Amino acid sequence: MIEFKDVSLVYPNGTKGLKNVNVTINEGEFVVIVGLSGAGKSTFIRSINRLVTPTSGELIVDNQNILTYRNTDLRKLRTKVGMIFQNYNLVKRSNVLKNVLAGRLGYTGTLRSMFNLFKKEDMALAYESLKRVNIEEKLYNRADELSGGQQQRVSIARVLTQKPRYILADEPVASLDPPTSHQVMTYLKKINKEDNITTIVNLHFIDMAMEYADRIIGMRAGEVVFDGPVSEVTEKT
Ligand code: ADP
Ligand code: ADP
Repeated sequence: MIEFKDVSLVYPNGTKGLKNVNVTINEGEFVVIVGLSGAGKSTFIRSINRLVTPTSGELIVDNQNILTYRNTDLRKLRTKVGMIFQNYNLVKRSNVLKNVLAGRLGYTGTLRSMFNLFKKEDMALAYESLKRVNIEEKLYNRADELSGGQQQRVSIARVLTQKPRYILADEPVASLDPPTSHQVMTYLKKINKEDNITTIVNLHFIDMAMEYADRIIGMRAGEVVFDGPVSEVTEKT
């Protein structure tokens, strides 16, 4: 469970990224955050794995206030809370296998992967994860040989190898065409339901949010201005 308790974030230049946000996200939910550019969606999402740090309030993840976390705790948090980005964040010149295992193995893994020394169990996990998003046949392709949609599927597989409890996706389909966007959203939703991984996704487009979300959070100027199930959005629009 994730609880924002009166969370605000002021960037060093004085911009207010979040203003007194109070939100509770329950186990297994698929939440979509919508709002115009600059509304604070990305700040909200990035607060949850402490890529940015709120300046006041409490942000509780699994009963702990993560705003007090430092080094070791943060590393554990970021394993538990997987992240997917708009631009995939793959190492372009590495192959898919190495990219997928990077999240799991960390630095010592990087050394081993230079020599293609993967343990059997890691290989198996990587392959299983890639199969979940139907991209296992690209195991030995370089990341930059893949299309955008394929790269985003690899980044989903990379997150899966972490065995996360939460997945955060920051504009995961903003660089993709509509059919590919739907494909990526369908995979995220499927994994959310099959593995009960609580998932929070930022989207630009309300139509797509309505199609996939269990619950929609609307933001404007750092504030939560709507929070409810999809059915309530329909009534208001
Ligand atoms: P969204 O994801 O909805 O586009 P963001 O969370 O990226 O919104 O941004 C919220 C506000 O915070 C915007 O006004 C943005 O310009 C500002 N902002 C984001 N990142 C920074 C930063 N590193 N420094 C200063 N202001 C920032
Ligand atoms: P390097 O470590 O030299 O960068 P890569 O691991 O990127 O090499 O692999 C280069 C090519 O070799 C890949 O595109 C792939 O076709 C092939 N390859 C690498 N490892 C294997 C493997 N274990 N099984 C089959 N083909 C492999």
